[in-house]
Amino acid sequence: MMKVALVGNPNSGKTTLFNELTGSTAKVGNWAGVTVDKKEGTYKKAKTPMDIIDLPGVYSLSPYTLEEVIARDYIVNEEPDAIINIVDATNLERNLYLTTQVLETDVPVVIALNMMDVVKKNKDSIDTKALEQKLGVPVVEISALRAENIERLMELVGKATTKRQPLDIFKDSKLETSYRQLVDLFTTNGVKQAAFTASKVLENDEKVLSFESVVALKDQIEQITTVTEDNEALMADVRYGFIDSELSSTIKKSRILGEMTTSDKIDKILTNRLLGLPIFAIIMFFIFHCTFSENFLGLGIASPGVYIQGLTEIPIGWISSGIESILDTLGASSWVYGLIVDGIVAGVGGVLSFIPQILLIFFFLSFLEDSGYMARVAFIMDRILRRFGLSGKAFLPLLTGFGCSVPAIMGARTLEGEKERKLTMLLVPYMSCGAKAPIWALFAAAVFPNHADLMTFGIYFIGIFVAILSAILLKQLVFKGEVTPFVMEMPTYHWPRLKNLLLRLWDKLKGYLVRAGTVILASTIVLWFLGNFNLSLQMVEANSNDSILGVFAGAITFIFEPLGFASGSAGWKAVVAILTGLIAKEAVVSTMGVLYTGMESEEEFLGDDDATASLVATIAHTFSPLAAISFMTFNLLSIPCMAAVATLRAEMNDRKMFWFTIGYWIVIAWIVSFLIYNVGTLLGF
Ligand code: GDP
Ligand code: MG
Repeated sequence: MMKVALVGNPNSGKTTLFNELTGSTAKVGNWAGVTVDKKEGTYKKAKTPMDIIDLPGVYSLSPYTLEEVIARDYIVNEEPDAIINIVDATNLERNLYLTTQVLETDVPVVIALNMMDVVKKNKDSIDTKALEQKLGVPVVEISALRAENIERLMELVGKATTKRQPLDIFKDSKLETSYRQLVDLFTTNGVKQAAFTASKVLENDEKVLSFESVVALKDQIEQITTVTEDNEALMADVRYGFIDSELSSTIKKSRILGEMTTSDKIDKILTNRLLGLPIFAIIMFFIFHCTFSENFLGLGIASPGVYIQGLTEIPIGWISSGIESILDTLGASSWVYGLIVDGIVAGVGGVLSFIPQILLIFFFLSFLEDSGYMARVAFIMDRILRRFGLSGKAFLPLLTGFGCSVPAIMGARTLEGEKERKLTMLLVPYMSCGAKAPIWALFAAAVFPNHADLMTFGIYFIGIFVAILSAILLKQLVFKGEVTPFVMEMPTYHWPRLKNLLLRLWDKLKGYLVRAGTVILASTIVLWFLGNFNLSLQMVEANSNDSILGVFAGAITFIFEPLGFASGSAGWKAVVAILTGLIAKEAVVSTMGVLYTGMESEEEFLGDDDATASLVATIAHTFSPLAAISFMTFNLLSIPCMAAVATLRAEMNDRKMFWFTIGYWIVIAWIVSFLIYNVGTLLGF
């Protein structure tokens, strides 16, 4: 099978193109021995399928970062059959810096000029014919996002099968003579990729200089030229000189340099020094308002989120009453009935009924991310965090944390500094993840029906606030060190594609359904058993204090009593919910579904026979507003789930820091919940 590698700058659209080409065949792994993602998949639309490899995004093929080393080793040593060099056409000159290096190899290359939709919208144009001629390789205008011209690109890739003459950027430059002599020397001595090696030697590239084949020619090389530290700058000069004199003329900008694009104009407001942060807060509040409010825009109607949540309760209600009547007809014994209706239906159904609202939040967040806005938020955050000795760079993996802690912890790999990376991993769980959202939705409906939007917004805010305070504190005490400079290309604003958004939602939904059918189902069954049998394995009244669960959880409720939600005879149930939440946060609501339903007298909820409504009503009776906030805060800040712990263990590669992080999560969760409950009580809430 033909092997094709994708090479390009970060943010040039590599992942978007990769997904478009490989669809569901993509597999994510690691490059051997390092923690950098390796993605591989198959392009099936060509006559013979092609194997596509997504190389790490790099600005250059120098040997300084892990990503660069991986990308160049792959290109030079593995020798793919062809390379697609994806280039952000809106930043052509800067992207061509990498291109000039890739073209110094003899591997066949096709250049994909990506983001042409934006170029055209700006009424700019690029003379691709001239570019092809100067670079000596095919150039195709594409839009990865809109899937435009992809087949044409792949057709050319399919034809690019013979080795190329390497690009020569040295004509009329200071280094021309040495370059030519080095190329001759390497060619005669059979050094692999002679042109690439020559230019890297001139760049004083440590890695190439230590190649056996190059070391063997040390004396001859020294006769040709002496490379010093300054050579790096000299070579950069040669490269940019070539781009400037040969390639710049292929770009036709419709606007005069310095004139503002629409994107610039939008940014004047959205990233304004004073307005940036308040605007972000307002946007976020609006999202929660649309998702959770019972009084949408003050119109006295349900918000879209509450409305669709109501709609999904209907089929869930049908299913549960269907199950009940089947059990009745079969004459099921009372414990089978209890296990299925009070255990499984109440537990799993409780989680499922909040999914629409959670998907809606994700829809909004994905929209903000895809439109390019979230990159601006990172920039705004950087301005604030820098004052406290932190970089906004950490904000990007943290953003992933709003979805799921596991990829967020892995995402911290992109940070250069070891200390900054560890600190970021520690902060990840403070970004309220998707699995926690059902808890907020449940409490919003039960305890704060009139201020559901404000409450959910507040919870997310508490997380961010604790993260910032922790960062400041730990930076002083534990993770002292340099702050990474924040350089990030701001993508141009654009309307996200619905298909991409829906695909992401579908991924999320699948995740929920799988977990509802596995972890949640299993834990509800176990909980039901532990809650309905006593230590001598006799059935007792459902979830009474003598049940196994009641006895064990009762023994440790004292730890949580100061936090306000664990007192009283039912206090241990909240403790069980907290404990199952340490395993998986979805399990909090399902645990409460199993333990709290049917707890109040039947008459009170007569007519309310569906599981969610009765759970909501019970929670409303059991938790004071302050106890509810304290309970939510503990869930928000403590260990996110066992999957995150396992990921942290793998990524941290520092046993002491790993345990410190786990301990920090638990202790801080306790302290903040304690403060909220007790200060709130003192203030008379
Ligand atoms: P990577 O870092 O190279 O993997 O880049 P991504 O694939 O993550 O893309 C970076 C950003 O550019 C994302 O917000 C994409 O939606 C956007 N993007 C990618 N391709 C195009 C395109 O052809 N046109 C536009 N307008 N945006 C694009
Ligand atoms: Mg990517």
